[in-house]
Amino acid sequence: MLPLTDTYQRKFYYLRLSITDVCNFRCTYCLPDGYRPSKDREAFLSVEEVARVAQAFGQLGTTKIRLTGGEPSMRRDFSDIIAAIRQQPAIQQIAMTTNGYRLAKEAANWRTAGLTAVNVSLDSLDARQFHQITGQNKFTEVMAGIDASLAAGFPVVKINVVLMKHLTQQLPEFLAWIKDRPLQLRFIELMETGEGNDYFAKHHLSGEHLRRQLVDQGWQIVTRAADAGPAQIFIHPDYLGQIGLIMPYDKGFCDSCNRLRVSAIGQLHLCLFGEQGIDLRDLLQADAQQSALQERIQLSLAQKKQTHFLHQGMTGMARNLSYIGG
Ligand code: SAM
Ligand code: SF4
Repeated sequence: MLPLTDTYQRKFYYLRLSITDVCNFRCTYCLPDGYRPSKDREAFLSVEEVARVAQAFGQLGTTKIRLTGGEPSMRRDFSDIIAAIRQQPAIQQIAMTTNGYRLAKEAANWRTAGLTAVNVSLDSLDARQFHQITGQNKFTEVMAGIDASLAAGFPVVKINVVLMKHLTQQLPEFLAWIKDRPLQLRFIELMETGEGNDYFAKHHLSGEHLRRQLVDQGWQIVTRAADAGPAQIFIHPDYLGQIGLIMPYDKGFCDSCNRLRVSAIGQLHLCLFGEQGIDLRDLLQADAQQSALQERIQLSLAQKKQTHFLHQGMTGMARNLSYIGG
């Protein structure tokens, strides 16, 4: 099957699938007041609906699905969701992004269910600051979760760090941490969201600053795979770990876009910062709807814009990233 291709000849191998908006953390840049359910909230996708999304995208050339949220591990049926996606032969990689609070207990079980990669968010190596940023005093548990993921044999364990001004002082500590650990440390430039304008103005730091520092210290950039995420990857002969840099404000960032998103209520989002989602849910109710579902996904791609409009401060409908899964 040919991969999904848009009018700018970009190919889409990678789906980020949100399975819940719920989160138990209150990260200052994402959900500073914690998760608040709206009264008329629609139910999140069931395991069967998730399986149909995976089947449709798999048949349209998708090879990698990342489960995200909210906090995906808040779903009690999380292992069933992994196992259902695993049934789709086209999907070779099933990854998750997590705040890590259930990892220490569950990493091995999720690996057995079919998860192939884990990204853990960790914005500080200092327990007190971690607490300040996330609203949860869980630093020790999250660190134990990272160790458990390595012990469970995940070939890739990535650590997401949101790049903010205060981080410059902590860079040496983060680098020392990955000297002998096979982790990929990914610095994600803070993105402006509908609810986070003031926060962005105060904390945003361009990734360019960090990129120059890394190159000066002998880090070298490597080329990316077709279904890789948006990070520029750097390696260094003295370090077991790698560094990834995600710079959504960088010129040309959208040229290499290879991913689409489906929200926890079954809306297809062509861009993290796009407007209205395209509803797929009515076509997720029976296996017999697969061809109509695939056709809708294919036709929708014609609407994908060449780039986001973040530079003009247009954050689209992303109130915060817990909504369509960062
Ligand atoms: N709850 C999970 C977690 O935190 O890993 C998954 C969802 S979270 C929305 C996905 C990623 O988006 C996290 O690594 C988080 O740090 C990042 N994120 C959230 N808001 C962001 C923002 N405004 N700018 C950049 N990254 C953000
Ligand atoms: Fe929750 Fe993840 Fe958002 Fe933090 S970044 S509040 S853990 S969804």
